Amino acid sequence: MPELPEVETVRRALVQHLSGRKLDAVRVHNRHLRLPVNSRALRELAGLFLETVNRRGKYLLFCFPQRTLLCHLGMSGRFFLAFSRESLPAHTHVVFHFASGVRLFYVDPRRFGLLLVMDGENQALLSGLGPEPSDAEVVERQLLGAKKRKNSPVRNVLLDQRVIAGMGNIYANEALFAVGIRPQTPMGQLSQKQISALALAIVQVIQRAVEAGGTTLRDGSFTNALGAPGYFAVDLAVYGREGQACPRCATAIRRLVLAGRSAYFCPSCQR
Ligand SMILES: [Zn+2]
Repeated sequence: MPELPEVETVRRALVQHLSGRKLDAVRVHNRHLRLPVNSRALRELAGLFLETVNRRGKYLLFCFPQRTLLCHLGMSGRFFLAFSRESLPAHTHVVFHFASGVRLFYVDPRRFGLLLVMDGENQALLSGLGPEPSDAEVVERQLLGAKKRKNSPVRNVLLDQRVIAGMGNIYANEALFAVGIRPQTPMGQLSQKQISALALAIVQVIQRAVEAGGTTLRDGSFTNALGAPGYFAVDLAVYGREGQACPRCATAIRRLVLAGRSAYFCPSCQR
């Protein structure tokens, strides 16, 4: 599932290739996403110039004059840019035709993504989000505020978009490994010192991953597929590595399930 660094990398590529371009037409091929695509609202964007693409948490905001198209990549959403006459990729939901023949495909095999032209009613999707994990002091304050959820495993709190926007399972597990805290540790048991360390680790883990994404951006191979998994040069220490050696102490990484989603930790480095 794309998390903040992946979404940010996609955003940068979209800005690089599409900012300032006129959107000529929008074709909806498959309306079935997390919410059905409103074809009419999307088609009404035709004729407008894309000013820029912003990001809030894991959401992309395509900014047109007086209109914003909100996009969430869900589990498997991806953008493909086509500069020539490439055929439609499988699972294409929407094609955005930009000036000079550039096309942007939104492809989503699992259909958990979202494409929504913002109006007064759906603003709430964004207003409920917590701050971005870009400032350790802000993150620390958010985590201290969440300490009242005494029995909630810290990993679950980190995934709550109201606490920190953009955090996902991969980087939550990695940040917890960095500071030696097990994912299942109840929030109420964390000391002030642990919370400070965790806040800093979160900001650093995200920043490193964003930078790694940025690196792949300079690689020409990236321009055709935006946000494809596996494009990132980030070395993961624990996530997805059950049974493999901890990079720090060589103990086998363990997996457990919290709130229906896997959590990974080193039983010797994390207490
Ligand atoms: Zn270890």
